[in-house]
Amino acid sequence: MNQSRPASMSSFWMPFTNNRDFKANPRLLVSAEGMYYKDVDGNSVLDGTAGLWCVPCGHAQPKIVSAVREMVGQLDFAPTFQMGHPAAFDLAEQLMEYAGHKFGHVFYTNSGSEAVDTALKMALAYHRARGEGTRTRLIGRERGYHGVGFGGLSVGGIGGNRKSFGPLLPGVDHLPHTHDLDKNAYTRGEPEYGTHLADELERLVTLHDASNIAAVIVEPVAGSTGVLIPPKGYLKRLRELCTKHGILLIFDEVITGFGRLATPFAADYFDVEPDLMTTAKGLTNGVIPMGAVFSKKHIHDAFMEAPAGIELFHGYTYSGHPVACAAAIATLEVFKEQNILAHAQEMQGYWEDAVHSLKGMPYVTDLRTIGLIAGIELESIPGKPGVRAFGAFKKAFADGVLIRTTGDIIALSPPLVLEKKHIDELFGKLATVLTHLD
Ligand code: PMP
Repeated sequence: MNQSRPASMSSFWMPFTNNRDFKANPRLLVSAEGMYYKDVDGNSVLDGTAGLWCVPCGHAQPKIVSAVREMVGQLDFAPTFQMGHPAAFDLAEQLMEYAGHKFGHVFYTNSGSEAVDTALKMALAYHRARGEGTRTRLIGRERGYHGVGFGGLSVGGIGGNRKSFGPLLPGVDHLPHTHDLDKNAYTRGEPEYGTHLADELERLVTLHDASNIAAVIVEPVAGSTGVLIPPKGYLKRLRELCTKHGILLIFDEVITGFGRLATPFAADYFDVEPDLMTTAKGLTNGVIPMGAVFSKKHIHDAFMEAPAGIELFHGYTYSGHPVACAAAIATLEVFKEQNILAHAQEMQGYWEDAVHSLKGMPYVTDLRTIGLIAGIELESIPGKPGVRAFGAFKKAFADGVLIRTTGDIIALSPPLVLEKKHIDELFGKLATVLTHLD
């Protein structure tokens, strides 16, 4: 494959990117192994973000690479509409086991966005199947990110993502976000303040009546808007209120699933059981696109009581793609064989200390950590939101470390296989970047 600069970069319309800026000053990656990328000039770049939160086991894990190679030579494609192949079923059983048998079933998609839209549709169809067809309202949260499908965009709470696309889905409300730096700055783990914000759901129930509400969807830890960690007890309270009112609770674990908090899922970390759970990214270690919706048994079973025929008219050509299933099975094996979760747990304390060592650095207004995630909030340049952090991103890349920014927040989420030396390198370089930031 081409390891040098492409002859032309004009035709690829890049996603979520300032195309004009990028093409004037491109950052091109050509290979990856373990904790490092290599750029087109042969420089090593430490991966502080696990790609896009999606490579928990590190890059080029030999087991996953060979599973993909083997499957693509054996069964390159198989439909899962009215057909099947063994790996799709084997993976489903293994995912149930990985999730501690808290769910009964799994539905495959190809991305996080598709998983979110699938879960929302399941919630609507579930209530209909049970004769509660008036339950159609969906509730998301401000500053939530649930992908770019029309469902996910509608329940998502990021103004910038929504503003160009018209009215979106009707019948959607948003709970307030939980981020409050006046009360909760410099936290380790869950902040103390804000549990009561879950009670805003009661306000929406009073307004619309529970009989009209289908589901609440939240990210246990909001990633894309800058690592917003739920206040202590907030998610438990949300669970209680959903149960009380017959509303389904959906956790969007696209970034928190597969070990990000050193537990199988964030649901385990917070000890809260959602009815539906969306995942993607780490499911295949990012190697092949795949998403999945985990469903409690009672949700699935409500569909199975319908008259004979197709129970859920929904699916994708590539649902349960054999190569993606092979990658996911191999990923689960790597999790087990290399004790990925135990290692992440071991690294947590050192990680947390390293993040908080940046306190007092220029422009830093907050540092927050949970699991192997960090949010570093910077003071914005007046009238130029996001410009300072994006400057840090560019400087960091030039210094050999990949970070991610959203607004003026740096979000870190390294592969879970990192060692102390990588943490030292990452924060050493970040400290230099922050020191020399204009
Ligand atoms: N939900 C959450 C919580 C996410 O973080 C993302 C992606 N960052 C998505 C959904 C969408 O996933 P994808 O980009 O695979 O469609």
